[in-house]
Amino acid sequence: MAHQDAHFVQTCYSGTVNDKLNQAGRLHANLGGRAASVPGLTEALGQLREHARALDEQMRVMEMGQRCGQCAATPGGGCCSAFMAGNADAVQLLINLLMGVDVTYQEQSGESCGFLGPQGCLFLVKPIFCLNYNCSHILTGSEPGHLATLYQRAGAVLSRQTEVESLLLEELRKRLKPQATVDNLNAS
Ligand code: SF4
Repeated sequence: MAHQDAHFVQTCYSGTVNDKLNQAGRLHANLGGRAASVPGLTEALGQLREHARALDEQMRVMEMGQRCGQCAATPGGGCCSAFMAGNADAVQLLINLLMGVDVTYQEQSGESCGFLGPQGCLFLVKPIFCLNYNCSHILTGSEPGHLATLYQRAGAVLSRQTEVESLLLEELRKRLKPQATVDNLNAS
C-alpha cells in the first residue's frame, strides 16, 4: 500500500506538464461526478473560489495581468516564464477542472508559461510558487496598501488551497484501498 501511495503521489507531482495534465484528467474523470459527496469538499471549493476571485480582483486593480504579460514576452520570460509551467501539479490542475476552468496548455508558448493567455494566467487556482509576488517590478511599482492587500488575499487562497488539496488527496487515497491499484484508479 505504501508503494501504491508513493507511486500515486509521484504521478501527481512529478513528470512533464503533459504527464500531470493527463493524470489530472484521469482523476477528474474518476472523481468529477462524485465530488459533491466528498465531505467538506463543496464548501471548501466554494471558499477557495471566493478567495481566488478576490485575489484576481486585486491583481486586476494592480494591473498585474497586463504588467506580467508584457514582462513574460521579454527575453527570459519574466516571472511567467516557460519554466514555471512545470510547477503545475495534477492536484492543482484537478482543482481548476473541478472549478470549471478550461485548462489548456500551449506547448509552443516560446519563453512564456504555457498557461499564460491573452488575459493573463488562465488558472483560477495557481501553482503555489506563482503566489509569491516578489518580483521587483511589483514591489517597487505598487502602493504599499495594494501590496498588503495582495499578500493578505494570496495567503487566504493558499490556506484554502492547502485545505482542498488535503481533502482531495484523502479521498483519492481512499480509492486506492483495499486492493485497487493506481492503474485501476487511473483507468476508471
Ligand atoms: S501558472 Fe499562471 S501565474 Fe504561474 S507562471 Fe504560469 S501564467 Fe504565470
